[in-house]
Amino acid sequence: MMSNETLQAVRGMNDILPDEAELWLWFEEEVRDWLHGYGYRNIRMPLVEPTALFKRAIGEVTDIVEKEMYSFEDALNGDHLTLRPEGTASCVRAVLQHNLLYNAPQRLYYSGPMFRHERPQKGRYRQFHQVGVEALGFAGPDIDAEQILMCARLWRKLGLRDVALQLNTLGDAASRHRHRVKLIAYFEQHRDRLDADATRRLYANPLRILDSKNPAMRELVAAAPSLTDELDEEALRHFDEVQATLKRHDVAFEINPSLVRGLDYYNRTVFEWVTTRLGAQGTVCAGGRYDGLVEQVGGKPAPATGFAMGVERLLALLQEDGMALPKAKVDVYVVHQGERASRLASRVAEQLRDDRLRVLLHCGGGSFKSQMKKADASGAAVAVVIGDDEAQADEVSVKPMQGGEQVRVSVRNLTATVNQIIK
Ligand code: ATP
Ligand code: MG
Repeated sequence: MMSNETLQAVRGMNDILPDEAELWLWFEEEVRDWLHGYGYRNIRMPLVEPTALFKRAIGEVTDIVEKEMYSFEDALNGDHLTLRPEGTASCVRAVLQHNLLYNAPQRLYYSGPMFRHERPQKGRYRQFHQVGVEALGFAGPDIDAEQILMCARLWRKLGLRDVALQLNTLGDAASRHRHRVKLIAYFEQHRDRLDADATRRLYANPLRILDSKNPAMRELVAAAPSLTDELDEEALRHFDEVQATLKRHDVAFEINPSLVRGLDYYNRTVFEWVTTRLGAQGTVCAGGRYDGLVEQVGGKPAPATGFAMGVERLLALLQEDGMALPKAKVDVYVVHQGERASRLASRVAEQLRDDRLRVLLHCGGGSFKSQMKKADASGAAVAVVIGDDEAQADEVSVKPMQGGEQVRVSVRNLTATVNQIIK
């Protein structure tokens, strides 16, 4: 049976309506300008990838792969596909597939929707947006520090307050292995205090237990063996240099030894930018080094580092700060009545657009009075008024909406007249 119920968007997937979209457009422009200032170039990957890519890149025993992925079988050929839950894996896949990387380190960025089957709440959605920034083929601490400095610059540029930097190092494979053995032994001793997630992860991915968001686990996690004690000299030197650069540039940070990030692929430097003003969903940007990923995705080993920002959370923070929504306005609203006048009106509107003005041509008829009301509401600085009288003479009336004399000018002089008023 047919139902008349209005269809709704999928839960956790948001419409961004025109008023709010103005803020998004502004944000995207600021971000693009900022990225180009550091020589990053845009790359665009498909929204759908083979499921195997994410399993391999993100790790089987992670929140994302275990329970958050939108995976499905292609009904036509049975392929196992997934809506991308993040961009790093796709980016690395694309770079390898098209042979961009070797002998040519790459600074790349992308932005767009990501999909995770999470419980929707403020700051946590099933379709959300990230700006991802990846530097591939760079091994040194200089690029780690540069990426963090980049973030600090963006926050300044956006006028964002109260985002604090948390920093940690995960070391390299050998020290992580030593740490893993100690962690397992420690948590085995306290088996009775592990929650279900932690029990499941105990042997598969004990490091992730440290990332637990369960308050009941906090004490146990706090007393766990520290990875810091296992770090080798090279990883420590790398970390020291990142910190030294940040200090030279007056970027404040806090070392957080329990910051381990949700994904398997990180090593050495990891960081998060966190605010206390968005409730539980306080991380607005997160990233770090992932030297093992390129090889894991099937390439020759290459070092890399990157980060991703959560656009919804950043915009929520800006709005929290009372940031006014920028509003796109038109310059000119064209009011007209009568057949001849209407023909002139559409010609004049096109001419003004040729001259780079933003023009709303009244559509749908109505009295001059009702059209002028619409002109007023549009926020246009100028109304161009055309009646039969004007049309006969190939002229138009120009009315400044903020007050001032209405003048009558030839079509030829219209743009100049409008520009004078707008200035
Ligand atoms: P969280 O701990 O909040 O689940 P995460 O570690 O899963 O975050 P990342 O995979 O590092 O998140 O993604 C980078 C950023 O993307 C996050 O810091 C956050 O700002 C944003 N983000 C992640 N998941 C969501 C979501 N479901 N809805 C909105 N934003 C998100
Ligand atoms: Mg998550």
